[in-house]
Amino acid sequence: MFNTKFFNEKDSLRPRKTKKTYFCPIMQQSELFKKVISHAKEYGFIFQSSEIYEGLNAVYDYGQNGAALKKNIRDYWWRAMVQLNENIVGIDAAIFMHPTTWKASGHVEAFNDPLIDNKDSKKRYRADVLIEEFVSKIENKISKEVTKAAKRFGNAFDKAQYLSTNPRVLEYQSKADSILKRMVKSLEKEDLADVKALIEELEIACPESGSRNWTDVKQFNLMFGTKLGASTETAIDLYLRPETAQGIFVNFLNVQKSGRMKLPFGIAQTGKAFRNEIVARQFIFRMREFEQMEMQFFIPPGTQKKWYEHWKEKRLKWHEALGLGSENYRFHDHDKLAHYADAATDIEFNFPFGFKELEGIHSRTDFDLGNHEKYTGKKLQYFDPVRNENYVPYVVETSIGLDRMFLAVFSKALQEETLVDGSTRTVLKLPPFLAPTKLAIFPLVKKDGLPDIARKIVEDLKFDFTISYDEKDAVGRRYRRQDALGTPYCITVDHQTIEDQTVTLRDRDSMSQERISIDALGKLLNDNLSISELLKKL
Ligand code: ATP
Repeated sequence: MFNTKFFNEKDSLRPRKTKKTYFCPIMQQSELFKKVISHAKEYGFIFQSSEIYEGLNAVYDYGQNGAALKKNIRDYWWRAMVQLNENIVGIDAAIFMHPTTWKASGHVEAFNDPLIDNKDSKKRYRADVLIEEFVSKIENKISKEVTKAAKRFGNAFDKAQYLSTNPRVLEYQSKADSILKRMVKSLEKEDLADVKALIEELEIACPESGSRNWTDVKQFNLMFGTKLGASTETAIDLYLRPETAQGIFVNFLNVQKSGRMKLPFGIAQTGKAFRNEIVARQFIFRMREFEQMEMQFFIPPGTQKKWYEHWKEKRLKWHEALGLGSENYRFHDHDKLAHYADAATDIEFNFPFGFKELEGIHSRTDFDLGNHEKYTGKKLQYFDPVRNENYVPYVVETSIGLDRMFLAVFSKALQEETLVDGSTRTVLKLPPFLAPTKLAIFPLVKKDGLPDIARKIVEDLKFDFTISYDEKDAVGRRYRRQDALGTPYCITVDHQTIEDQTVTLRDRDSMSQERISIDALGKLLNDNLSISELLKKL
């Protein structure tokens, strides 16, 4: 039960009103993105993979808080798919698959990126890497300018100001940006002639021969190859899966028969996928190892339009229920359809670098099952008792990257606020049920039995919620730490707790404080943090 009396023993514990919230409008988009990356690192969400060895490009590790947030997003998806729909089941297929799978799916033929050879050295390069290295050289020049200026100005040196005002630096930066922009555009349009033209215009030479005698740019396959087997003679070539969907298709009959599933029904799966991506410069937006959450919905031929519309609507609702703002989503229908699709759209999200694909919804026809039939010689058909016929089902797929979803949630949640007293706070306004830690518990001081009471609350609530106990520093600083981690509630145990078994409950977003009885905490957390309440809205 709430007691609405504000806690007022210490100034640092008083509720503080917010003057204004600023993020996108005041903070430049690129600045916000830098902030997202540094906040993710500083607070244990995301680290560069193998950082102590200088890292691995476009590969990231999730830290203690990132892993928890990622798991909560995955749970939200899984429960919305598998738990709420009695005709959708979940599986967990292996990453390694029979190599012919990827011939049947079209990936061996058509999953490619650009490659270029130097005619003199006979060395082969990725066209995009040559251009990226050229850009790195420009960036190195910027770093050198900064080092020189720092020496010249000493303690008075303001790096941010220098970077945004020095004409030479600005010229370098604009050159680097325009080269990358053109490269990305050409690659997206598959204009390989322009990629070559760019290499020639920039006068990029082969690092080995020093010559500029290049072949045309050709495509190269994005799949990572590996080997299975103990000896080189008997080992077979495999691929790390570039998508999780094929693990579902090859198990279509296993699941249908063992689960006695009737069409329409869906198979859901979350898991790692691997792509040797060429333009991998946007943090966890485009990674070489990433996680997908995919659902293939098997339907009678001819009903695909209806189900395609159904899943478009359902998936948008799933996103919007998070409360990140409907204006941040939009559909983008594909003009150029993939070889397997008869309709396709992306749900795009307004990332710090603009609207980009977050999720794909594809009407895949009977392409995949039909091709697996061809390559295996086995029937992958369904007997439809209503139509009284056998057929290869059609499929509507929903496919979302878990890491991209993480970036969407994290970047919108990260905000800076200026408080009435002029101070600022950084707060991660995550949807509460996604927060890595649900509740932080502080004893006001480390004596008078307060830590024991606080510990006892942790012991009672830890079975249902992730809780953090913190007794270091002033309470105000502890609040700030939890704000930065996205913890929705903090409670403080003080001397009044000894008398009346109440604690101060502080809300992350409003910063308001109320006294609440310890007995009421469990219900309050259940009511406000439970994923079930959110699922009911879907
Ligand atoms: P993009 O056009 O951005 O390369 P895609 O169309 O190739 O993506 P799909 O093959 O449709 O992507 O994969 C489904 C989802 O998987 C995407 O919507 C995205 O969320 C995620 N995804 C794809 N590639 C990556 C990647 N390299 N890193 C992180 N997530 C990815």
